Amino acid sequence: MSADFDVIVIGSGFGGSVSALRLAEKGYRVAVLEQGRDLTSADLQRAGSSVRHLLWAPALGMRGPLAQKVFANVGVVHGVGVGGGSLVYAAVLLEPKASFYQAPAWRDLHRDWQRELAPHYQRARQMLGASVNPYVGLQDDWLQQTAAQLGRADSYGPVTQGIYFGAPDAAVDPFFAGKGPLRQGCSRCGNCISGCAQGEKQSGQELPAPRPAVGCAGNQRSTCQSPESQG
Ligand SMILES: Cc1cc2nc3c(=O)[nH]c(=O)nc-3n(C[C@H](O)[C@H](O)[C@H](O)COP(=O)(O)OP(=O)(O)OC[C@H]3O[C@@H](n4cnc5c(N)ncnc54)[C@H](O)[C@@H]3O)c2cc1C
Repeated sequence: MSADFDVIVIGSGFGGSVSALRLAEKGYRVAVLEQGRDLTSADLQRAGSSVRHLLWAPALGMRGPLAQKVFANVGVVHGVGVGGGSLVYAAVLLEPKASFYQAPAWRDLHRDWQRELAPHYQRARQMLGASVNPYVGLQDDWLQQTAAQLGRADSYGPVTQGIYFGAPDAAVDPFFAGKGPLRQGCSRCGNCISGCAQGEKQSGQELPAPRPAVGCAGNQRSTCQSPESQG
């Protein structure tokens, strides 16, 4: 890997990987430095059944995709690895309602920023493979009943997720017309937040080409920290 880059992005989560992809599409030479590993399907499978393989605590020899930090007044849970939080997120893709844009705190920041952001939401939906979850289970029934008891039955409904809900046994590229990763339909294993080992969930690990280099100048693909975090 060349060590000569126009842009170096630190962190390969949603923010870093999308920025890197768009810059690479514009022809910039981009490197992404990621402190975590490039986790394989087998790694994510193990993370789903073993806390030791799930957690990120390098000092204890644990290099899984989920980090927990406890500070005096706040606790932070986040993803680590190529893909960052996209590895362990629940893939729920909520979008702000019109009332959000009208909140007094920011409604005057832009003339019509709901309209301004609309094409970008559309692009994000496409990139993330946004699909309405068709499954309804026992917990959904409980949620619906609870909403009804609270007088908010109208607030219950299916959510959109960045998950492919096609046939579980087929490997297809449903979102990028042959340029993206192959996916199987969701098997409903429930392991989204320890990492999807089957490839149903769209994560930043799997950006379509052109894919920026991930790693550092020393030929490593990942486990690179920016200097300030190496302390
Ligand atoms: C369990 C869980 C479930 C979630 N579910 C949802 C959901 O359903 N829907 C939703 O919208 N959001 C969800 N989120 C939140 C979502 O994952 C985050 O908002 C999102 O990942 C933030 O993106 P980011 O690019 O800012 O940071 P991250 O995705 O956290 O990426 C940061 C990356 O930078 C790396 N890094 C940090 N510092 C350094 C350094 N100094 N050197 C090298 N690398 C570094 C980290 O290892 C990490 O890979 C969830 C989060 C968690 C933890």
